[in-house]
Amino acid sequence: VPELKIIQRAEHSISRKKICRHALSVLKRLKDAGYRSCLVGGGVRDLLVGMCPKDFDIATDATPEQIRQLFRNCRLIGRRFRLAHIHFGREFIEVATFRGTGNEDSQANTTDDGRVLSDNVYGSIEEDAVRRDFTVNALFYDIQNFAVFDYVNGYEDLQKRLLRLIGDPEQRYREDPVRLLRAVRFAAKLGFDIEPETEAPLFSFGHLLEDIPPARLFDESLKLFLSGHAVSTFKLLRHYGLLEALFPETAKACDAQPELLKMLNKAMQNTDLRIKEAKPVTPAFLFATLLWPPFYLRFEALCKGEMSPLDARYQSADEVVTEQVKRTSLPRRFSVPMREIWHLQHRFAYKSGKRARRLLDHKRFRAGYDFLLLRCEYDDSLQPLADFWTEIQEKPEAEINAVLFPDSPPRRNRRRKRRQHQNSEQLERQSANP
Ligand code: ATP
Ligand code: MG
Repeated sequence: VPELKIIQRAEHSISRKKICRHALSVLKRLKDAGYRSCLVGGGVRDLLVGMCPKDFDIATDATPEQIRQLFRNCRLIGRRFRLAHIHFGREFIEVATFRGTGNEDSQANTTDDGRVLSDNVYGSIEEDAVRRDFTVNALFYDIQNFAVFDYVNGYEDLQKRLLRLIGDPEQRYREDPVRLLRAVRFAAKLGFDIEPETEAPLFSFGHLLEDIPPARLFDESLKLFLSGHAVSTFKLLRHYGLLEALFPETAKACDAQPELLKMLNKAMQNTDLRIKEAKPVTPAFLFATLLWPPFYLRFEALCKGEMSPLDARYQSADEVVTEQVKRTSLPRRFSVPMREIWHLQHRFAYKSGKRARRLLDHKRFRAGYDFLLLRCEYDDSLQPLADFWTEIQEKPEAEINAVLFPDSPPRRNRRRKRRQHQNSEQLERQSANP
């Protein structure tokens, strides 16, 4: 066990100005009441590397009850290990009591109905440090003296830009396999190297993720891909064979047809760019791209059989979702729009008439169109179609209708309509366009 290192105020780069004022006020209130009060985890790490922390977590030796007595705007959450949320309008600061080792995420101290058998979950600051995952995530910034307390040699690793698990890496991954994904996520985000012993299991421990609840892996997937570093994250996941663990069907489809990787890479670039520009990113679109490769290959296979494109679309979508939710959950509020994005794709083939008009007015037209652009990455032949829909969006409304209805006013008798319908069926079959 490394000895405690204290990095004094003058020796490190953390400035209180960079800490959100709510977190600062919580830190100070705890300190003034006589408790140990530290900023901890990602907040300290990000400040030290000059990044802007996502959130500021606080650790203290005050118990949840003591914390509650100090703050009127406090709510205690969690049953066994209780955390305090101090609310400020719509934001809150999370305050945790120093936690002991060995019982996090394990059911060992709990009965099947969640009852607590042993209460000794709280611990010393040092115990709290060593139960954390990476050394650079275990630094404490103490508001009493503005020094950084380092029980795990994390400060040195941070300066060497090295991601290292605390303790025996294999054991720590077995304890909580999500740490495999966290290693990738932090390596991508921070641009750190992964220390060799921490890195080795990444190649071989992926199967451990099969035991993790799909809901947790869904949350983790969003953090992996929607935090602004999707390109490098995706690359690392593939490098370690961990994409296989999270999106097995996607990994297989990309092996079968490497062209599809171009689309995924482009999607990751676009996502990162959108986050940089503070534009919204949606899990539905993300999953639409990540699951497109298996959807697309299934669709093609089913169409080569006797199935109609319509049936093939629905069946492939069903199958892909059924397989995926064995790994990550996919709440309906995301899977429904994801399927809509997929099911819009074949409709871009109709460049005139009411069908085109309805597509343009569809509430997911924009998402569907963005998706069509992505598909051009692996299929050049779609480019003219994409150009058509790019250009039409730039036209004023009156001109759009002139393009969509060249022989207006549109008067169509039933016979023509029927024939038109048959034609479109043929068109769809020919292009086998999902
Ligand atoms: P970010 O918030 O930027 O994603 P973070 O380091 O703050 O990164 P969180 O998931 O917010 O990550 O967790 C806060 C802290 O809790 C971590 O820095 C780490 O010390 C500890 N922690 C979180 N998850 C685990 C885990 N699975 N195993 C051990 N410690 C963990
Ligand atoms: Mg955090």
